[in-house]
Amino acid sequence: MTSAEPSIFTRIVAREIPADIVFENDSVIAFRDIAPKAPVHLLVVPKTQEYANVSELAAGDPALLAEVVATANALAAEYAGGEFRLIFNSGESAGQTVFHVHAHVLGGALEEGSLAQ
Ligand code: AMP
Repeated sequence: MTSAEPSIFTRIVAREIPADIVFENDSVIAFRDIAPKAPVHLLVVPKTQEYANVSELAAGDPALLAEVVATANALAAEYAGGEFRLIFNSGESAGQTVFHVHAHVLGGALEEGSLAQ
């Protein structure tokens, strides 16, 4: 679903708000989570905000989902020794707070409280 208002991640893509960006190409952007839950905590985000969650992305653009996963893998190799957790929260009760699909890439032990907000 495309919403009228730009999401917080669209605003990061547009450089309207700052972020510690670690990777960007034409279709995805990756940056450090502002509230890290693990020693390495990156977000990999499709630039389009058309998809609210991973299920919508899988149905609507599976190649873009594959690119998100490949980007997560490459960043984990660079920043987390190659091993990582890949988390997509889907729905408020599952801890999703930003309804612009994004992958959490976590390296190292999770901190207390996990990803639930
Ligand atoms: P979720 O709760 O799965 O929707 O994940 C949203 C994530 O975005 C949370 O882990 C937040 O800490 C993170 N976040 C929110 N605003 C920013 C921001 N401006 N820069 C980086 N990460 C952010």
